[in-house]
Amino acid sequence: MKISIIGTGYVGLVSGVCLAAKGHDVVCVDLDAAKVERINGGKSPIHEKGLDDLLTKHCGINFRATTDLRSAVLDSEVSMIAVGTPFDGDEIDLKYIRAVATQIGTVLKDKETYHVVLVKSTVVPGTTNEVVLPLVEQASGKCAGRDFGIGMNPEFLREGEAVQDFMNPDRIVLGGFDERTLDVLERLYQPFENVDQIRTNPRTAEMIKYSANALLATMISFSNEIGNLCGSIPDVDVTGVMRGVHLDKRLSPILADGRRITPSFTTYIEAGCGFGGSCFPKDVKALIAHGRKLGGNMQLLDAVVNVNLAQPQQMLDLLGKHYPDLDGLRVAVLGIAFKPGTDDIRESPALPIIEKLLAGNARVVAFDPVARGEAEKVFGDGALGFADSVAEAVLDAQAVLLLTRWPEFSQLPEVFANLDTQPLLIDGRRMISSERVERYEGIGVLSDHVAVDARDLLSV
Ligand code: NAD
Repeated sequence: MKISIIGTGYVGLVSGVCLAAKGHDVVCVDLDAAKVERINGGKSPIHEKGLDDLLTKHCGINFRATTDLRSAVLDSEVSMIAVGTPFDGDEIDLKYIRAVATQIGTVLKDKETYHVVLVKSTVVPGTTNEVVLPLVEQASGKCAGRDFGIGMNPEFLREGEAVQDFMNPDRIVLGGFDERTLDVLERLYQPFENVDQIRTNPRTAEMIKYSANALLATMISFSNEIGNLCGSIPDVDVTGVMRGVHLDKRLSPILADGRRITPSFTTYIEAGCGFGGSCFPKDVKALIAHGRKLGGNMQLLDAVVNVNLAQPQQMLDLLGKHYPDLDGLRVAVLGIAFKPGTDDIRESPALPIIEKLLAGNARVVAFDPVARGEAEKVFGDGALGFADSVAEAVLDAQAVLLLTRWPEFSQLPEVFANLDTQPLLIDGRRMISSERVERYEGIGVLSDHVAVDARDLLSV
């Protein structure tokens, strides 16, 4: 099938390259000419495992990028809208969605064959039917259902695992305005065999995406609240507590042969310094705002957001126990990306932590295996120092804040062993066993009262 995808961000580019890998003919459209040029040169503008390889394989064969939306829409059967939907403080900002819907409609005016417009971006229930559909009808002078199809197909990929997630989805949600649209969408996803599919209407598809993200965010804030409580009770470590919770067979089922399945879902039931990224924070806030508009109370999700907003401060409080005065304090920050495997730092808990450290005149050096370029765009004034390795970052540090679960940080005790003076480690991801370093603080445990070896528990 010939597909055009508007927006070459995490979702648009990964969807485009993966759909090409599944045999479709894909053209990705973006306003950003530099991005388009880079993509056509076979280089991904984002860091995602496996993406460069697929791009090199399909670029110029059945995948390309362009800034020319018109030719891309004219030369395809389906146009996917994958532009950003930021939260503006009151509601999701649909300006990019509106602009693209109008642009596609304007092209459809001159297109004789049936075309399907598909919303891939995360949008609140009703957006496809009440915002996108009328804009396309208005600009094209055509009628949805008769002249063109319209649908909503939410994306569930996780940054850091985006290619793997897109190629092997948990489920495919197809929200169609009518049966004809749904039939086209089924053809689009035909190469994905043995995947559960939900055939539904656009509003339900939109709501599924928000509900899925809201549940995961709720699990994280729940764990963080429990973790904060554990951190004030002697002899209790949240890693042991959560291990005990995970072993409920409703969370980690026991097979007939006695083996236990540990679903990746349980990684959302671990305490840490908070969730970030371009999805959870904005999606939960957007759902709250939408719910309020409809008269809902939304108090649970309000609390999810508030717990998360306060969580980075936990790291600074742990630092303050040992170093009440930040002025001149030498601090190493390990991890700026909101999670491992990505260079995305949007809403990363590292951002408010670094800002507060700098505001207190601490001397901060940061290291992230891939997110330095993105961080330099935010902290470009020279106040934040950057190191090229873990060893360089911690060399002169009095305190080390571990903020992202990058696998290379598990070597920290070995790196510390080469230092003359031992820094304080504040473990925001509970990656390091407290016994392996001399001076330790972690989310969810009272220092001097570490009851269990966190590393051993996590590896069970
Ligand atoms: P992004 O900000 O990384 O990328 C959006 C791209 O759209 C940019 O490259 C921008 O230049 C381009 N763009 C904007 N207006 C355009 C126009 N008129 N024509 C052509 N290109 C245009 O966004 P993203 O992270 O890929 O997210 C896109 C949507 O998918 C959002 O609604 C997001 O909530 C949702 N989503 C994101 C993820 C994720 O992990 N990032 C996962 C699932 C769903």
